[in-house]
Amino acid sequence: MGGGFGGFHTARHLEKLAREHDLEVTLVNDTNHLVYTPFLPEAAGGTLEPRHVVIPLRPSLPRTRLLVGHATRHDPDRRRVRFVADSGEETDLEYDQLVVCPGSVSRTLPIPGLSESAVGFKTLAEAIFLRNHVLKQLELADAARDADERAAMLTFVFVGGGYAGVEALAELEDLVADSRRHYPGLDKVPTRWMLVEATEGIFPEVGARLASYAMRQLTKRGIELRLGTTLTDATGGAVTLSSGEVIPCRTLVWTAGVRSHPAVIQMGLPVDERGRARVDEALAVKDLPGVWALGDGAAVPDPARPGLACPPTSQHAVRQAKVVAANVVARFTGGRLDTFRYRTRGMFVDLGRNKAVASLMGLHISGFPAWFVTRTYHLSQIPGFRRKARVAADWTVGLAFQRDTAELGSLGHPRSLDP
Ligand SMILES: Cc1cc2nc3c(=O)[nH]c(=O)nc-3n(C[C@H](O)[C@H](O)[C@H](O)COP(=O)(O)OP(=O)(O)OC[C@H]3O[C@@H](n4cnc5c(N)ncnc54)[C@H](O)[C@@H]3O)c2cc1C
Repeated sequence: MGGGFGGFHTARHLEKLAREHDLEVTLVNDTNHLVYTPFLPEAAGGTLEPRHVVIPLRPSLPRTRLLVGHATRHDPDRRRVRFVADSGEETDLEYDQLVVCPGSVSRTLPIPGLSESAVGFKTLAEAIFLRNHVLKQLELADAARDADERAAMLTFVFVGGGYAGVEALAELEDLVADSRRHYPGLDKVPTRWMLVEATEGIFPEVGARLASYAMRQLTKRGIELRLGTTLTDATGGAVTLSSGEVIPCRTLVWTAGVRSHPAVIQMGLPVDERGRARVDEALAVKDLPGVWALGDGAAVPDPARPGLACPPTSQHAVRQAKVVAANVVARFTGGRLDTFRYRTRGMFVDLGRNKAVASLMGLHISGFPAWFVTRTYHLSQIPGFRRKARVAADWTVGLAFQRDTAELGSLGHPRSLDP
């Protein structure tokens, strides 16, 4: 259940193992593709085609039965999962072994106006919405006569200094900076970009030295950092910060952390205080024989940090998938269970403009070399030769030509026949 990094790679390993063992693999996912999330910022920024950052599941998993819809209920005693197709039709799926990996969702807080005015940055829909939205703000500002309105349209506030939020901000700031030359009417109107972070630093995962390099790069580009500051209100077309500052803006992006997908609880799995499935080192769900969980939705014991769970990253989900697939087979064959032993080898954060920070097997690199390593790493990781080729082609074209700045917000909303 769940066809993201965890589910896709589990199914892939099981397909390989199915050659030796008589296995039938069914994957339930709400779309027929996997989103390669590390590329979402580039899809938003327009350096990658949105279709090139997703991997279609059917051709990639030819021996898996894919069911597109939702798993909604679970009866562990009868070993059944209720599947609801997009048409609304419901079926009970029987299983011998169940692997649950529904991922995570944005973690919100009860801040007035937040859910109405902020957008997250976790899905392809959000990334493309934001791309179109920021380009639309340039159009609106160009046409606006009121100076305060213009300033609000050209103010972009991001809350949450994790790597996903910083990468999204950096790419969108690049997109707007590149697009501005086409708006001579906005020559003298500045754009304002702001990153609000509750702690005193950004992405602690890469270490203090690289984080401070990243902060210097962002500040050099005019991005305002508000560290040790929280968002307290998002009503009335403005955001209010804990410092008392009130910033009129039309773009608020919320990337202040994730929480386990509610489907974990819906499926009746035992959970920890953050709603993640409780599993042991073999990824078996506590007290539910035949049920496994992994990825962002599971509290997998982290071999590198005793007593803590693995961080929510794709590199962990991908490695956990291999262990789960082996253990599913071991349950049928009576073999020994494998345990999860992976330790993070590196972290990469793309800052746009051919710069990044990377920490790789104890080495810390920044600037252009880090950017090159980051791109090479992701190219090696995105599944499938055809996807790699398309991504490489997008990057190559991007080196020679200017960024594409078309705003396509009307896609998916066809005009009525009777306007
Ligand atoms: C912008 C961004 C950038 C990132 N960059 C990196 C990076 O550079 N490196 C890194 O290691 N990690 C990165 N991550 C984190 C990474 O994406 C996650 O850790 C990873 O996706 C977790 O894998 P998963 O299988 O648990 O969940 P997901 O990949 O989210 O997959 C879960 C799937 O299950 C589906 N699903 C949920 N509920 C149901 C249901 N009831 N029925 C059917 N289907 C369901 C979901 O829609 C989804 O398709 C990034 C994340 C984001 C948002």
